[in-house]
Amino acid sequence: MSAHPHLTEEQIQGLADGTLRGPEGMAAREHADACAECSAEQSMYGALVQRLTTLQDPTLPADFTAGVLQAVEHREHALTQRRHTLLAAIPAALVGVFAILGWALSAAPTAHLDGFLEMWTVGRHVVSAAAPVLEAARLPLGLGAFVFAAAILCILARALRLRPGTVPAHASP
Ligand SMILES: [Zn+2]
Repeated sequence: MSAHPHLTEEQIQGLADGTLRGPEGMAAREHADACAECSAEQSMYGALVQRLTTLQDPTLPADFTAGVLQAVEHREHALTQRRHTLLAAIPAALVGVFAILGWALSAAPTAHLDGFLEMWTVGRHVVSAAAPVLEAARLPLGLGAFVFAAAILCILARALRLRPGTVPAHASP
């Protein structure tokens, strides 16, 4: 047994993580079982390997994907709930508008409606009566406006022309 050299680091690692198999693994295990030094080194490597595997686990827990999915689902659920709230608010708003309209009409229904209808019919009558008159009187109105403007220009021109004349007429006698 003492003739056997100590296990190499590679062999001890292979024993620790279980990758050293076959007759070489058997011989290495036999040596480690008999040799306190190699056995201690192997148990140290074994602890290291165990810690490494336990170190890898916390970085990605088993429920990581489930947690992410749950968060996404929760967020989506909140979004759909908000959408539902909005969709539910539309009919509520419509009901509110109709309620206000109904209240305004029911407060004085005849006054509102009669006033509106009266104004509407009066306006329509005025427009329908005035339309042909305006249509027929467009040419006379245009001519009248032209004549009126010409008359005013003539009066203005005469007044401007007369004023210098009247001044000497008053001054001469
Ligand atoms: Zn040894």
